[in-house]
Amino acid sequence: MQEITLKAYGKINLALFVGKKRDDGYHDLSSVMQSVNLFDLVTLKKRTDDKITLSTNSEEIPSDRTNIAYKAAELMIKKFEILTGFDIFIDKKIPVGGGMAGGSTNAAAVIEGINALCELNLSLEEMCCAVGKEIGADVPFCLFKRTAHARGIGEKLEEVAELSNCYIVLVNPKVFISTGKIFSMMDEEEREYKECVEILEALKERNFEKICACLENDMQKYTASCCDEIEKIIKALKNAGAGGAIMSGSGSTCFGLFKEKPDEEELEKELGKYWYKVVEPVSFK
Ligand code: ATP
Repeated sequence: MQEITLKAYGKINLALFVGKKRDDGYHDLSSVMQSVNLFDLVTLKKRTDDKITLSTNSEEIPSDRTNIAYKAAELMIKKFEILTGFDIFIDKKIPVGGGMAGGSTNAAAVIEGINALCELNLSLEEMCCAVGKEIGADVPFCLFKRTAHARGIGEKLEEVAELSNCYIVLVNPKVFISTGKIFSMMDEEEREYKECVEILEALKERNFEKICACLENDMQKYTASCCDEIEKIIKALKNAGAGGAIMSGSGSTCFGLFKEKPDEEELEKELGKYWYKVVEPVSFK
């Protein structure tokens, strides 16, 4: 095989509780993460020399070695003493800097792609531990791709009862949020640290109303204090019929959960001025 194209799925956080800043600068967290069927397409082609090139149809992400997908290729080549280089192309569909792990999922696709092209036969566990978590805290989840409780800095994953039979409306106001800035704002305040508990029970019970009532994101109020659109979007999602709505990650993407397929006219009326998309949860085992 000389070439492979992979779907790199985005994620949302159904719950996100941020803990204390650790000595290494990262934050401990407890989060329920869910893959959704909004994906970038990542194509990898083997080269005849040992170079890496990266191109993309997006003007918002870098095409040089600062791209996290490039870094993943470099690390795979180094770790597994691979002799060929790769041409990487990213067809971007996930909002950039939107709290949907767009970069991490591209890196995860590169790891999977090189594993397949070079017949390395690495297990999911090996991909997560040997390369994924070194590249970024969300990369292991992007390899895992199912409903999971993430702990540590996000790299400790435990499969939980999956979210299914519902629709998710993603809304992005196209406002870039600096994750670092939101963490700094959080560190300046005395806060209570929580762990995901109720939402795990709600998922287990497959209780849609309870799941909606348990959606919670510690970062939301901080992002909302710098971006007026967050609260407006959440209100608009509820007006459009969402059972619950919150922000994902550090924002700026928000999402609403719908039991039935949302009414297109209603969505257009409430959310027409934003980028929005109706997706469903996905889980790969
Ligand atoms: P998370 O949910 O993990 O916090 P995010 O969705 O908020 O991530 P990303 O879309 O991953 O944010 O992008 C954040 C930054 O990373 C941007 O400044 C972007 O330019 C840079 N970046 C580097 N490589 C990529 C990539 N392949 N895709 C997206 N962004 C990338």
